[in-house]
Amino acid sequence: MKLTVVGCSGSFPSAESACSSYLVEADGFRLLLDMGNGALGELQRHCGLYDLDAIFLSHLHADHCIDMCAYFVARYYRHDGGRCAPIPVYGPEGTEHRLTTAYADTPTASSMSEVFDFHTVKPGSFDIGPFSVHTERVSHPVEAYGIRVEHGGRSLTYSGDTGVCDRLDELARDTDLFLCEAAFTDGKESIPDLHLNGREAGESAARAGARRLVLTHIPPWTDPQTNLADARAVYDGPVELARPRATYGI
Ligand SMILES: [Zn+2]
Ligand SMILES: [Zn+2]
Repeated sequence: MKLTVVGCSGSFPSAESACSSYLVEADGFRLLLDMGNGALGELQRHCGLYDLDAIFLSHLHADHCIDMCAYFVARYYRHDGGRCAPIPVYGPEGTEHRLTTAYADTPTASSMSEVFDFHTVKPGSFDIGPFSVHTERVSHPVEAYGIRVEHGGRSLTYSGDTGVCDRLDELARDTDLFLCEAAFTDGKESIPDLHLNGREAGESAARAGARRLVLTHIPPWTDPQTNLADARAVYDGPVELARPRATYGI
């Protein structure tokens, strides 16, 4: 698998990065995990506008899904007058309604479904193209999922947004790359069931036995080096900060 960080800024975009969006490729299949603010522009550095094969939305906070409204425009009002065939979109209950409402003025109530084939995510295992995926509910104020993506005996686990959560540890069990949020700073912000800090992300990776940890979803007002040091203090494996345009072979 190849992972490309399209956007990794937490909660709102930074000058350097769009919000959450990660491209996962294998066997010529392109799966996008989340499409937050600014992601659609950055995505076009990495693949053609119409080259995605499936989209997974971890939850419906704007910093994870709002560019789907822009992507609707690109697919529905193609410059050649055609309309794109529906692409599979996996998201929590109510994804179609939320995106339709956010867009505010779709031609009809079902216009989104003309270009997006919506599937409701529940905890469990299923296939997306060549990938075997497993989803689990994580601890966040809205219905939110972490996802483990497997291909060819290798695995990537993406936390989505979550507080400390046993199910996240299980999802990341022995995973090859753990892409884990670390939005908070230890000792500064402490709200249960919302976000992890660097230490908590490191502890989750350690409990899970993850082979590599990449910290992501760090907001522009948070010092990433503090979170990186806090994760390193509790996790022995390799840890780094996600950066826009970084790629990983998994
Ligand atoms: Zn978020
Ligand atoms: Zn969120």
